[in-house]
Amino acid sequence: MSGSLVVVGTGPGKAELMTPATLAALAKATDLVGYGPYLARIPATRPDQRRHASDNRVELERARHALSLAAAGREVVVVSGGDPGVFAMAAAVFEAVETGDPAWRTLDIRVEPGVTAMLAAAAEVGAPLGGDFCAISLSDNLKAWATIERRLRAAAEADFVIALYNPASKARPHQLDHAFELLRAIKAGDTPVLFVRAAGTSEANMVTTTLATAEAARADMRTLVIVGSSTTRRIGRWVYTPRSGGGLS
Ligand code: SAH
Repeated sequence: MSGSLVVVGTGPGKAELMTPATLAALAKATDLVGYGPYLARIPATRPDQRRHASDNRVELERARHALSLAAAGREVVVVSGGDPGVFAMAAAVFEAVETGDPAWRTLDIRVEPGVTAMLAAAAEVGAPLGGDFCAISLSDNLKAWATIERRLRAAAEADFVIALYNPASKARPHQLDHAFELLRAIKAGDTPVLFVRAAGTSEANMVTTTLATAEAARADMRTLVIVGSSTTRRIGRWVYTPRSGGGLS
């Protein structure tokens, strides 16, 4: 008898931004596995449901725990914030499958999409992702800073709008300033830069500035930073990137 494992995302925070498919998976689960604050966003569904809260940093261990529960016959839901496939638990689950018990490869594993922070943040300010864009995580916990720099430079040279996840933390206060410095050497100083904090929640807060004046101190771990392309522009309180034009001059 084997159970199942569904990886879901809670969306950016507001209950309405959790999808009905995610709510259905949560209602069926016998076990919820995830980082404590994400589990706290989920309303209690069934009285017999077990919650396994863990620290944010032990993703692979958490994935293995979830897989062994599913292998023992439980209906397990692994909970991420936003979308589970964007810098989150879905990849950790597949990494655990790849390196773990071969029997895990035959488990019933499913991923439900969610609203990722980048989309919620863009909607708060207008349509900054209207043209081509990319997403880069500034966290160097799992990759070298040199890799991040190379990708930032390539994205700037190709004139993408750049969404920056994990822009800052207490452990790495200077990286976002380094990223801005690198981008200033390639992009125009008047390029719009957006700091969107707690997007898609009732506490949402946004600041629009320019690359020339952007300061890392405006960002924390609940902030998504969007750096515009050469065509991203302000109209009144909105910022958008037209679908046409742009590119290399
Ligand atoms: N899986 C998540 C991302 C995890 S990485 C998703 O799809 O959204 C964590 C980073 O996401 C944070 O450091 C922050 O940059 C961003 N983030 C998550 N929720 C956010 C929110 N409500 N508003 C702004 N940024 C958010």
